[in-house]
Formats: sequence, structure tokens, C-alpha cells
Amino acid sequence: MKTENITTKEPGMAISPIREWQVYKQRPLVIAGPCSAESEEQIFGTAAELAASGRVDLFRAGIWKPRSRPDTFEGIGTIGLRWLRQVKEKYGLPVAVEVATEKHVYEALKHGIDAVWIGARTTVNPFAVQEIAAALRGADVMVFVKNPVNPDLELWIGAIERISKAGISRIAAIHRGFSSWEKSAFRNHPRWQIPVELRQRIPDLPLICDPSHMGGDRLYIEDLSQKAMDLAYDGLMIESHIDPDNALSDKQQQLRPAELEGILSRLVLRSSTSSDREFLDTMDDLRRQIDIYDELLLDILENRMAVAETIGKYKKEHNITILQSDRWKEVVNKAVTKGTKRGLTPEFIHTILEAIHQESITRQMKVMKEE
Ligand code: PEP
Ligand code: MN
Repeated sequence: MKTENITTKEPGMAISPIREWQVYKQRPLVIAGPCSAESEEQIFGTAAELAASGRVDLFRAGIWKPRSRPDTFEGIGTIGLRWLRQVKEKYGLPVAVEVATEKHVYEALKHGIDAVWIGARTTVNPFAVQEIAAALRGADVMVFVKNPVNPDLELWIGAIERISKAGISRIAAIHRGFSSWEKSAFRNHPRWQIPVELRQRIPDLPLICDPSHMGGDRLYIEDLSQKAMDLAYDGLMIESHIDPDNALSDKQQQLRPAELEGILSRLVLRSSTSSDREFLDTMDDLRRQIDIYDELLLDILENRMAVAETIGKYKKEHNITILQSDRWKEVVNKAVTKGTKRGLTPEFIHTILEAIHQESITRQMKVMKEE
């Protein structure tokens, strides 16, 4: 069955609204199930409870697992597809698996799988994504594209485009965070600004958050899910296992079905708009204030850069280097001390000042090169 009412905003992107996907029950769309299919008991036990919750739109289970190290559990393989087909028949839950090669796609389609997702380690590889896209051509399945492991929005959009060009209209992005050398409590750094930018670029594309792989620990799932809802995400992909402590992969981040149900029932869902006159007037007023401050910021930056250029000319005349590390350290320290007193975090001040410093250096380099 094909979905009606397809809208096209990006050239070449025909995206079907998520509310019209046959599986959609209510916001958020929920994809839940174990990290990996392990045994019939585990799959049917988990599916039975998730189906009984009435809150799950799609049942997930990985059967080919991309593991960092060999000799760990690499998935149950094709037999898992038969179990998933039985989940669909027995509990009426549409089913989803991860695909990483064209062979995976053909196997999944042959077994009547309803949805596939492309994992973070696959999205990074345009050859693999293209091969998957070619195998999906003409198939009536939902396709979820996870962000690549590295924070590269173009690569993510490129993968989505490849799938879209293969004629898939029920397509969505999954934000699961980005791997990073920076120390963080999370397994994968969220970098929320990247999916926010994706939303700006492709407004019709449904956006799903995967707090399981982002947090890496069940402790963080509720907060991350709420944050995603507050950022107007359309859905959640959450790992759920009947017996997480004995899971063969990702045991730390899987929730029992009852715990998942609890989290879903506590989510606060805010609407993206309101027709309340007073609310709209107050928002207009506050936004006007923001616009004025943004204007002021631009004026200040323009003036600051003009001074930086003058300094550049002066340094050139006196044959002095552009970079003055001690002076810069002093500037940053002073700003951090003053800014912290005003309630600005040191990270924020560092980010802003680094951008300003970089621009000043670029300007002064230009000045140095001038005849
Ligand atoms: C998964 O969903 O089980 C998985 C492997 O995720 P990711 O690609 O986000 O690491
Ligand atoms: Mn997993």
C-alpha cells in the first residue's frame, strides 16, 4: 500500500508525512525491541510485553550486528528474520532490522520485514549506502537512516538522498549521537545542533531520537527522550529486552518493557504552536527583543573586527607577529571570570571567543598580505 499526500520540498525528495505511515499510532512514534535477536524465547517474550503496552509502533531487533571487535556476538543471522515474521503475525507488530549490505536487504525483503534501518557505521560509507539504496528500489518499506558516527551533516543528508532517490518515501532520520574523543558521560555525544540543522535543511523529514545508543546507559534514556520531545522530534527508537542483564549486546542500555512503558507514560508532550492570542503576543514581544540584541551583537562584532584590522596594520608596520598568545590568554581569562559572574558558562565563553579570535586572525592575515 502506498502512502498518499506526498510533499516535495527539497529537489528530488518526496517524503511521506509520518502521521500517514500506516504504523503511526500517536506522537512519538515508538520503535522498540532488543539490540539483538538472541533466541526465540527472548524475541517472543520481549515482543509479547511490548505489544501488550499498546504503545509500540515498530518492533526492532538486530540480526546482523556491526561489532567493534571480532569474537563478540555478531548476531543470530537469517533465522532471526523468521522469528520477526512470527512476531508480526502473532502480535500484529510491524518489524524492523538493520541492514548493512545488499544481501541483508534482499533477505529482509524476502521475509516480509516492514522497515529497515541503516546503522551509524554504514551511513559513513557512500558505497555501502548506494548499494543498499539500489537493493531497496521499488520496495514498499520504511527506511530509517541513522546519523554517521562522525559529526558530518552532509554525509547524513547524502545517505538520506540516496535512499530517497531509490523511490523510498517513508523515510526518516535517526539521531543516535556522534562518537568523540572528548570525555563525556554519554556513549555518543548528542551534538543537538546537527539534527536541528538537518530539520532546517529538510523540514519534512521525520526525526527520531535513539537515546539508547546516545546515552549508552539506561539511566539517561528518560532525560534524553524528554529533550528530544522538547526539540519537536517525531519519534524514539529505544532498546528493550525481556532480561537486559543477560543480553548478548548493549546490556547496559536496554530497558525492560515495563520500564520503557513507564518512561513513555511520563513524557511531557508540548505542542509546536498555539492559537492563544496572549501567548502569541507575548512571544512576538520577546522575539522582537531577541532581534534587537542580535542586531546589537552584529554592530559590536563589526566594530570589534574593525579594531582588529587596525591592530593588524599597526603590527605590520612594526613587524610584529599576529598571534600574541599571552595577550590572548589574558583576554580569555578575563572574559571567563566576568562572564561566569553574569551566569555564562566557561564553555560558552570559550566557544564564542575562539570564533571571534579566529576571525580576527583571518582578518589580520589578510592585512599582512596586502601590498
Ligand atoms: C543498533 O541500533 O543496534 C546499532 C547498532 O546502532 P548504531 O548504528 O546507532 O550504533
Ligand atoms: Mn544496540
